[in-house]
Amino acid sequence: MTIAIMGVAALVAAWALAYHRASGVAWSVGLAALVLAITFATGAPPAVVLAAWIATGLFAAFAIIKPLRAAVITKPIFGIYKKILPQISQTEQEALDAGSIWFDADLFSGRPDWTKLLAYPEARLSAEERAFVDGPVEELCGMLDEWDITHNRMDLSPEAWKFIRDKGFLGIIIPKSYGGLGFSAFAHTEIVTKISTRSGTAAVTVMVPNSLGPAELLIHYGTEEQKNHYLPRLAKGLEIPCFALTNPEAGSDAGAIPDFGIVCKGMHEGREVLGIRMTWEKRYITLGPVATILGVAFKLFDPDKLLGNVEGIGVTLALIPTSHKGVNIGRRHIPLGAAFMNGPNSGKDVFIPMDWVIGGQEQVGKGWRMLVECLAAGRSISLPSMSMAAGKLGSRATGAYARVRSQFRTPIGKFEGVEEPLARIGGNTYLMDATRRLTMVALDSGEKPSVISAICKYHMTERMRQILNDAMDIHGGKGIMMGPNNYLGHAYINIPIAITVEGANILTRSMIIFGQGAIRCHPYVLKEIKAAGENSLTAFDLALWGHMAFTVANAARSLWLGITGGEGVSVPGSPETRRYLQQMTRFSSAFALLSDVSMFVIGGSLKRKEKISGRLGDILSLLYMASATVKRFHDEGRQKDDLPLLTWAMHDSFFKMQVAMDGVIANFPSRFAAAWLRLLVFPKGLTLDTPSDKWGSRVAEILITPGAARDRLTAGAYVPRDENDVVGRLEFAMHAVIKADPIEATMRKAAKEGKLPQRTLAERRLAALNQAIITQDEFDHLVYTDRLRRDVIKVDDFEHDLGRDHREETWQHTESTKKVAAASM
Ligand SMILES: Cc1cc2nc3c(=O)[nH]c(=O)nc-3n(C[C@H](O)[C@H](O)[C@H](O)COP(=O)(O)OP(=O)(O)OC[C@H]3O[C@@H](n4cnc5c(N)ncnc54)[C@H](O)[C@@H]3O)c2cc1C
Repeated sequence: MTIAIMGVAALVAAWALAYHRASGVAWSVGLAALVLAITFATGAPPAVVLAAWIATGLFAAFAIIKPLRAAVITKPIFGIYKKILPQISQTEQEALDAGSIWFDADLFSGRPDWTKLLAYPEARLSAEERAFVDGPVEELCGMLDEWDITHNRMDLSPEAWKFIRDKGFLGIIIPKSYGGLGFSAFAHTEIVTKISTRSGTAAVTVMVPNSLGPAELLIHYGTEEQKNHYLPRLAKGLEIPCFALTNPEAGSDAGAIPDFGIVCKGMHEGREVLGIRMTWEKRYITLGPVATILGVAFKLFDPDKLLGNVEGIGVTLALIPTSHKGVNIGRRHIPLGAAFMNGPNSGKDVFIPMDWVIGGQEQVGKGWRMLVECLAAGRSISLPSMSMAAGKLGSRATGAYARVRSQFRTPIGKFEGVEEPLARIGGNTYLMDATRRLTMVALDSGEKPSVISAICKYHMTERMRQILNDAMDIHGGKGIMMGPNNYLGHAYINIPIAITVEGANILTRSMIIFGQGAIRCHPYVLKEIKAAGENSLTAFDLALWGHMAFTVANAARSLWLGITGGEGVSVPGSPETRRYLQQMTRFSSAFALLSDVSMFVIGGSLKRKEKISGRLGDILSLLYMASATVKRFHDEGRQKDDLPLLTWAMHDSFFKMQVAMDGVIANFPSRFAAAWLRLLVFPKGLTLDTPSDKWGSRVAEILITPGAARDRLTAGAYVPRDENDVVGRLEFAMHAVIKADPIEATMRKAAKEGKLPQRTLAERRLAALNQAIITQDEFDHLVYTDRLRRDVIKVDDFEHDLGRDHREETWQHTESTKKVAAASM
């Protein structure tokens, strides 16, 4: 009995020590206490007691005297580790070193600091930025007509191009000292988001020069001479930039580009200078056909050792005027019918002087790192902003349409079947905007969060895909018929572009998010790798044992928090969010455990186990987006009306985390480890569910009802107060329909009482007016509402030959058909 009680007490004590990540001294004291109890309370034989004391002494010696532990235990492990550590290519190493880590590291820790999260500042526009968004951006949106752009012109109008250049849209990120707008990352995303709600073509045109491209690269790495020459010209739109990395042979595997340059001497502007002879073939390059300067990535070689002793110098970036002799550029691709400029370019044995290398000779071979670092910022802004636009326009327009469009005498938004996709649109939009806002806080505080930027790129474009699918379903035929009245079709058709560019999504999910996150954000993995690289046993010893304690702690925490569901964990926040933060603490511990066991059991081949690493990446991403959602709710003053959005987004995130964790465990290569993981992660089984129908209905209600929650959700979308505009009209119609509801109810009641004729609607209304069942104002409002409703549900139709003159072809076709028919008679 005594032994049983002591066994349980020892287990509880061990669990408590592990849970609190106790030091080696604390563990040694605990063990000594246990042996003391055995000595006096169990009457164990002296030999057993002696053995227990010796074991305790050895444990304490190794736990406390680190050089001893390093020499005896860590050293052989270090040897094995160095042998099995997977080869990291230089490209991968540079990608790993580039950028920074931020709150993502907390999520990897198993014990995120929620107080820190809630204390980050809120993303805000300065007065100058607000004036720009409300002024020139609104004005530009008013000039844009996506149908005219894509159907009639396949380009922006000359006026829009001029406005974009003149107002500085191409220099949003260029510092004021070089003539740019010098705006924050948050302003940048607000601008791109608003333009995207009006025209994808214009948004891409503005987005590309401000994203990964010549301006960004010059700001960070250019020589003073390059900056002084190009940045003011770029800011004023006197130069149109493009950046060419992608080669037909190397798409996603951009580090494998076969484009090359050879260091040599050549003639430039009449004199012999040191330079590079370049050969390249690029495709898919946005703005390429109209660009005046071309940024090119290529691999540089120095066979004659003109720069030093290294022959293979590595990826290098150069800036070449497109008018330069030998540059082939100007032809155009048609990306899914979108009208933004995109095309191939190439050059063979084109000589450029060395000072056309971005950053000059000093920066040769550093191109990959430069690209990855710039991508860490740009990738968080461009595609996420476009996705946000789909969310905001999708929420606003689909909600209004679902309220205005009735079937079976009911607004379609009130059918349960339609509520479901409406809830997904609203809930996803709330979470996406929260993610965008939090990420901009990171960027504006100087971070270049590489893992977070990959999370944003992948998850926001995927949720955009979901939102647009749902919005299209709800709009039915209205979303399908193309023409000036279709405000969704272009965005829907162009989804795959956002999915493919700036890191194709499958690759981003399967390789990048967890692959980079596990090494960058994990508290010990990078330290272990570095220690191996530097051959430092002491550093490795500290990292290894820290790592062990970390894993044991997360196992203990995961089990306990799995049993309690996180109840009792001390977290900051408000009554609405405290429970969520507790659950997230539980998931963070479980995620840290799963990551460690995956890395330990699967080792270097985890890189190729993309299905496991994709799911682990999903968990990290969901944790990040859920954190952002809680933060948003707090930043916006804990709006009661937004509770359905918060609740839907959090429940959806938790359910998806559970699915991803279950997927990792169910497919774990070691069944033994999987059994333990299931016990530690899901001690009570899979207990979480999808957001309830009740909360889903409440989210749908927000979308179909004018009000503050709907306005907050869609803030930043371009919605003109103009009945003649296809999107603006939706708002007028929605309000009109809601105001007409009680009038129509009065009419229905009168009809039921037999007071109105059972003939046409017009006759019934007239009868209602004549009998004073409704007033003249009410009658007028019903007529007005009808007109708006008809305008909203209207789609476009065209001449059968779409206005082209095919009469000659038709005649020839008819004649030949007649001949064939006659011959066969
Ligand atoms: C409209 C458009 C505009 C673009 N603009 C530019 C630009 O301005 N400048 C520029 O340099 N480039 C640009 N690109 C290129 C773009 O950024 C992508 O890098 C490129 O399209 C990806 O290469 P790929 O299309 O050949 O796909 P592939 O690399 O052939 O990939 C095909 C599929 O395989 C998946 N895949 C590949 N490797 C892996 C892996 N290891 N694990 C899992 N999945 C994998 C990918 O995710 C993708 O789904 C543009 C592309 C498009 C379509």
